[in-house]
Amino acid sequence: MAKKPTSKKRTAAKETPAAKPTKTTTKPAAATGRKAAASKAKPASRSESQASAGSVPPEAKRATAATPAQGTSSKPLQHRPRAGEETAALRPMPRVHSFAQPAVTTAPAAVTAAPAPIAKPAPTRRGKPKRAPTTEPAAPGLEQPVPPPLETPQPEPTREAHPDSGYEPEPEPHPEPRHEPSPAPADQPHRPSLFIVQITPEMAPVAKVGGLADVVFGLSRELAIRGNHVEIILPKYDTLRYDHIYELHEVYRDLWVPWYEGAVHCTVYFGFVHDRKCFFIEPHSHDNFFNRGSIYGFADDVLRYAFFSRAAMEFLWKAGKHPDIIHCHDWQTALVPVFLYELYQQLGMTHPRVCLTIHNYKHQGVTGAELLRATGLHQPERFFDRLRMGDNQHKDALNLLKAGVVYSNFVATVSPRYAFETKDGGQGFGLEPTLHTHHMKYGGVVNGIDYDVWNPEVDHHLPTRYGVDNIDAKYDNKRALRHRLMLADNEKPIVAFIGRLDPQKGLELVRHAIFYSLERGAQFVLLGSSPYQGINNDFWGLKHMLNDSPDCHLEIGFDEDLSHLIYAGADIMLVPSQFEPCGLTQLIALRYGTIPVVRTVGGLADTVFDKDHSDRPLHERNGYRFDNYDAAGLESALGRAIDCYYQFPDHFRELMKNAMRADYSWNHPGQDYLNIYDFIRNR
Ligand code: ADP
Repeated sequence: MAKKPTSKKRTAAKETPAAKPTKTTTKPAAATGRKAAASKAKPASRSESQASAGSVPPEAKRATAATPAQGTSSKPLQHRPRAGEETAALRPMPRVHSFAQPAVTTAPAAVTAAPAPIAKPAPTRRGKPKRAPTTEPAAPGLEQPVPPPLETPQPEPTREAHPDSGYEPEPEPHPEPRHEPSPAPADQPHRPSLFIVQITPEMAPVAKVGGLADVVFGLSRELAIRGNHVEIILPKYDTLRYDHIYELHEVYRDLWVPWYEGAVHCTVYFGFVHDRKCFFIEPHSHDNFFNRGSIYGFADDVLRYAFFSRAAMEFLWKAGKHPDIIHCHDWQTALVPVFLYELYQQLGMTHPRVCLTIHNYKHQGVTGAELLRATGLHQPERFFDRLRMGDNQHKDALNLLKAGVVYSNFVATVSPRYAFETKDGGQGFGLEPTLHTHHMKYGGVVNGIDYDVWNPEVDHHLPTRYGVDNIDAKYDNKRALRHRLMLADNEKPIVAFIGRLDPQKGLELVRHAIFYSLERGAQFVLLGSSPYQGINNDFWGLKHMLNDSPDCHLEIGFDEDLSHLIYAGADIMLVPSQFEPCGLTQLIALRYGTIPVVRTVGGLADTVFDKDHSDRPLHERNGYRFDNYDAAGLESALGRAIDCYYQFPDHFRELMKNAMRADYSWNHPGQDYLNIYDFIRNR
């Protein structure tokens, strides 16, 4: 990433905190530097993140809202479950605090003949009494009576094996700091702990491609510190960050996983990843499923993850584990509930309930009949049925994500707004009818962020740590960022963008924002990379074009360390996405007192509240929003942010404090997921 030497001069002016930008005195120019020397780009390891897109091209072409096609009845509550079957529509929704959604104007969904392969719950091993539903069901987003939140603080998790686990106690992990759950109201009943298994293709930091990895890492700990027993099952990739895995050892040598007409021999390892109990499945097969140098991006991705899902279920079964909850993620593990209800339930595995979290509808795992032959789901006519796994748009295709929606007991996505957009706003990439059919078991939970990692008070990446009570220290980081990127030291605000250079992220608007910011007297910093060579080339071109600007730096690459400094050193964080399921960037920016300017979509709309136009109380307003995906829309919000910085520094500072005070930790989402688990366990 060598950059050609530039004659650019740095104007070394004194930095001024946002509260006092107008008092700045500019010093004479003092330095000339080569920005290239300052830039420490690393290889774009994140480029693999989008490779999965290549494995599912059909759905990428899918357009907007489809007419509900499944079921014809207009009376959703009249569906009568078959013996041994329950439908989500007959049960009350859990209290997911963030279910408030935009007004839903569509007609009620029909739920006539969708399969709901959900067995009657077996009594838990702890003899937990079943609770009768207390209310009639209602769609997510509609006001409804809900079960009370269960916020009883739980005892610290023990290191002993769960009674169901079939394993000896695991060794002590390396301790690490943790945040405590908020105390529960005294009148809440004690909640028995749950045995929760997360089956996932990614977990930070050992196997991270996108936000999904952070969610599994953060949520797992939150659930554990609330007294639940949490285990995580991952593929044993050759690219695992082994430096983050402690006490890795073999725990199950001969796991034979049925595959086509035979079986694949696997070994299962156990290790701690910063306190999380993780099992890693290693297949010994010439298919070489997980030894390919990157996580996604292969023609047989669907088969690789079908195998992993089958292997995870086989492992649970053979190891005698009977979790209360199996939590799976995205299309990669969406077959888990299918295997559970179609294969393992017949073998007696009737206890677990399944929650599926969908992090992005763009990738669905669309494939053909080969999948059925490989996995032992030997009834094509059954599984190609549109009410089960048959893709809504291609009659000869199977759709794994759809199967997950149909077969799971609950389907969560990563913000309430995205739940609405995917079901009713044309963002479901063809799954809208399925979501309508299953709307009673569908809702959104905004992701949290890990405040041990993303917290300016403890962030070891920062030259100066700070919090809401010493916000001025943030400006040491601003100076450090400028120094590192060879930007002019002056009174200007820094506008930043951090993210994948994917069309989803609003790249035309990012480009426009660079020039607009410079024109409006701001500096601009970009950190991003793309797996698409064309996009990378475009941004490299832009970088060369702006090479001599003392107020702009584009860093094309993936650099976690630099991202921390940008979050801390920038004043404004731009997130102009076309669609955004949740978005972590704005949540992290808020924590660092960096004011988000976002488009009003998905999780951005659920977490950023406009300073000037919001029905939120003043102390909750924390950024700027715009609706229209065009230059005028962007300017309307970014322009106000820059104006506020210059003209109303006290207001800007208040906004920063509001942002830093908001709680986007895993505290609330952790409780929301527990409510969901409780809901599906007690059905
Ligand atoms: P997505 O999951 O769609 O990529 P999110 O906003 O949910 O987007 O999560 C993005 C995460 O990845 C954030 O933590 C962000 O800081 C980080 N990130 C994205 N691109 C880069 C990059 N080039 N270098 C460092 N971190 C990055």
